[in-house]
Amino acid sequence: MKKVLKNAFLALSFSAMLAAAPLAMAADHGEAHGGGHGAAAAQPEIPASVIMREVIEGNEKFKMNHESKYFDLFQDSQVPVLTVVTCSDSRVHTNLFGIVPDNNIFVVRNIGNQVANSEGSVDYGVMHLPTKILMILGHSSCGAVKAAMGDYSGEAPAIKKELDPLKPVIALDDQSGEFKERWAKNVERNVDYQVNYSMKLYDEKVSHGDLVVVGAVYDFNDIYGQGRGSLIITNINGEKSPNKIMEHPVLKDLTRGPIVTHVSSRAQ
Ligand SMILES: [Zn+2]
Repeated sequence: MKKVLKNAFLALSFSAMLAAAPLAMAADHGEAHGGGHGAAAAQPEIPASVIMREVIEGNEKFKMNHESKYFDLFQDSQVPVLTVVTCSDSRVHTNLFGIVPDNNIFVVRNIGNQVANSEGSVDYGVMHLPTKILMILGHSSCGAVKAAMGDYSGEAPAIKKELDPLKPVIALDDQSGEFKERWAKNVERNVDYQVNYSMKLYDEKVSHGDLVVVGAVYDFNDIYGQGRGSLIITNINGEKSPNKIMEHPVLKDLTRGPIVTHVSSRAQ
């Protein structure tokens, strides 16, 4: 009992420390790309040893909460239902889907949720496993998209290499309007671009109805006005019109309406 309480306290204190951290990290990220706005929040100092303690003790808790039979279902092979290409950004998490990620979600992550930069991994999910849905999940305030909108020539070669494929997306930005609005539109344009890229890669599967490519944005900043943490559907198989998206058979089992919309004033 004492140990459980101690762990609970540690988890709480760790969460409290981390609660402020994303702000600092996000701000630092923005500064690094020359686009930071406002003062950076103070970075809480979390010793590496505390982080490792939480990782290892957290895993022990996970083991305690999952009986051996939990692993029986997937001990020999995986049968995920969804391939997701999303950004490495720590603010995007797989729990947002409402299904247990274990053995259900095949996740491919890189900066800017780009198919081309992890094409082999995406192929594995779509062609080998194979999942019926490929979701491209962008997110509000994506640092990779922001970086690609500016001068990133000072970045390390490996980072530049992973940002370069975003150039065709940023080329669609007419540079008008406020930066925040342009940024949000470019996040959505990037999702569209990745959906189109995937449609070309998996054309045969999509045309046979064996694969649906869904474009979405995870909005933790309420840019869409639908509440923080919303999953916004913006594209299905290249279709961007909200009305037509709503008619797609892949949404027919929903008991509550999905959030299908676009960044305000974005051209359809
Ligand atoms: Zn991102």
